[in-house]
Amino acid sequence: MGETDDSGLDAAGSLAELLEGNRRFVLGDAAHPNQDVHRRATLAGGQRPFALIFGCADSRVAAEIIFDRGLGDLFVVRTAGHVVDNAVLGSIEFGVEVLEIPLVIVLGHDSCGAVKATMEAHDSGRMPSGYLRTVVEMLSSSVIGARQHGHGEINEIVAEHSVQVAQQLPERSSSIGRRVADGRLAIVAMEYALSDGAVRVLSSTIATPDVQIA
Ligand SMILES: [Zn+2]
Repeated sequence: MGETDDSGLDAAGSLAELLEGNRRFVLGDAAHPNQDVHRRATLAGGQRPFALIFGCADSRVAAEIIFDRGLGDLFVVRTAGHVVDNAVLGSIEFGVEVLEIPLVIVLGHDSCGAVKATMEAHDSGRMPSGYLRTVVEMLSSSVIGARQHGHGEINEIVAEHSVQVAQQLPERSSSIGRRVADGRLAIVAMEYALSDGAVRVLSSTIATPDVQIA
């Protein structure tokens, strides 16, 4: 695959493209679209990405690779444990308001180190030092909430955290909230499996297509 123009897709079309790209990646059949010199030159004057990925900073969960996309396709915001601060909200608002992206993915993954560090801090009563402490504090409500709901295993906590973040974005940002309410924006929480590379939809504000991995 050389170049493919997916600007102007609606949320459902964007989601279908992401799931199809992930399917190629899982099968070892990546097409590496939009990564050549021509695409680079075409984009120099402006971008129109079709999806915004807000995920964990983990080196194994690189958005363009796991969704098999290239330059100008994905607007990517990543923090450890995909914790949300004001700069994250501002970055997502930029993506949906200025770039008019129709789809936001909240992407968690199994065995997340930031969630693990938070669980260990709670279990030991010892908080980490420096700004890692900030990350742990910001993950604490999700860890405590998941445990109260009987979800004590790390991957259950990651999944619940991802769904919580997807729910919080439109609550915390009135701009994001308005767009979800009037149908201009969809928010989908996903979890990524490190071993087989597959994403799974956890929650969605729109119907999700059924993509077969075969
Ligand atoms: Zn992580």
